Amino acid sequence: MGVELHKPETIDEAVRLKSEDSEAMFLAGGQTLIAMMNTELVEPPALISLDRISDLMGIERQPDGAIRIGAMTSHAELASSDQLIDAHAVVRGAAKVIAHPAIRNLGTIGGAVSHGDPNADYPAALVAADALIEVVGPTDLREIAAADFFLDYMTTELQENELLKAVILPPAANRSYGHYEKFSRVEGDYATASVAVTLSLDGASKVDRIRIAVGASGPTPIRVPAAEQRLLDSDMGAAALTEAAEQISAACDPLDDVRGSSAYRRLLIPRLIAKAVTITKSMAEA
Ligand SMILES: Cc1cc2nc3c(=O)[nH]c(=O)nc-3n(C[C@H](O)[C@H](O)[C@H](O)COP(=O)(O)OP(=O)(O)OC[C@H]3O[C@@H](n4cnc5c(N)ncnc54)[C@H](O)[C@@H]3O)c2cc1C
Repeated sequence: MGVELHKPETIDEAVRLKSEDSEAMFLAGGQTLIAMMNTELVEPPALISLDRISDLMGIERQPDGAIRIGAMTSHAELASSDQLIDAHAVVRGAAKVIAHPAIRNLGTIGGAVSHGDPNADYPAALVAADALIEVVGPTDLREIAAADFFLDYMTTELQENELLKAVILPPAANRSYGHYEKFSRVEGDYATASVAVTLSLDGASKVDRIRIAVGASGPTPIRVPAAEQRLLDSDMGAAALTEAAEQISAACDPLDDVRGSSAYRRLLIPRLIAKAVTITKSMAEA
């Protein structure tokens, strides 16, 4: 049986088509969805292509300094964006290391975030950036904090009849920095583990805010605010950093899979956290 292809030109039309046929699926870059269809993991009767909806495209700086990223923005566009500076650079860093150029050219942030794979690169970066995910359904528009959006493996807050419209990065503080550190077996592979860090400095050049989110190390990105606070209360020296990294690592629940055993990842994660924080701090000190 063939698959019906819809090509709406507005968000309202796309949402209406979905509410009329709950089994239809949104098609963004197709990098994950088409592979899932090829292997018969999903067999949607209809696809709702999003590539004609101009309101889902592009990266826009808002007057207050927030960055609005349309769902259909490609990884390649994010990877080369000169709008993603200061703490927002953590998202650019994540986009840069997704897969390889062909996938970065077609894959979109909306598709990747909707898919909810905790091994993907955006989830941890968006949590560290305090991002908001804007979703729209037949009656409501909702903004969900990235930290609350990812619920479990391939499970997000996005409801069946909702479309992910945009990702919003709140204004970055003056003197804020962001870095994404990915460890993978080879370039282009999914992460064995990854760490996203954002931090900012106060007037006396002391770190007064830090976010550390670990990816590919559990069913959702892992963040431990108590460990971040202890780090802020410390001299942020090597011993304090090791302690914080161990505390965050203890909250992780890494898988045993082809990319590394759970035991290996437990050794890797604290080292990767220390490395990512050290790099971000050195950006701030430069
Ligand atoms: C070989 C390979 C290597 C990869 N390596 C990495 C990697 O290293 N790191 C990484 O992070 N990712 C990786 N990916 C995934 C890649 O980033 C995909 O681009 C991404 O997961 C899906 O984006 P897409 O735009 O292609 O979405 P699609 O494949 O079109 O859609 C994915 C899912 O999201 C739904 N969807 C799409 N857009 C929306 C929307 N706006 N609202 C609601 N639902 C929507 C679809 O219905 C579908 O269920 C890899 C993929 C491949 C094939």
